[in-house]
Amino acid sequence: MNNGNEVLQAPQRPRRFSERELAKAYVEIVPSSGILLQCKLCSEVWSPNIQRGGKLPRGYWKCPRHCNV
Ligand SMILES: [Zn+2]
Repeated sequence: MNNGNEVLQAPQRPRRFSERELAKAYVEIVPSSGILLQCKLCSEVWSPNIQRGGKLPRGYWKCPRHCNV
């Protein structure tokens, strides 16, 4: 996960669906995937299940393995 020297900051809840906000939760948007998200800690990829109207479900940014919660 990390090399032991790097101190990770506690993940923060992203306020919006933006690369910068998601980075605070150790999440990134998979390039050219559209809307798939990837955990920077374990590399797990998931779909945030964006709802009709573009609404994001609660906790959409959470890694399925709970790395960032
Ligand atoms: Zn993870």
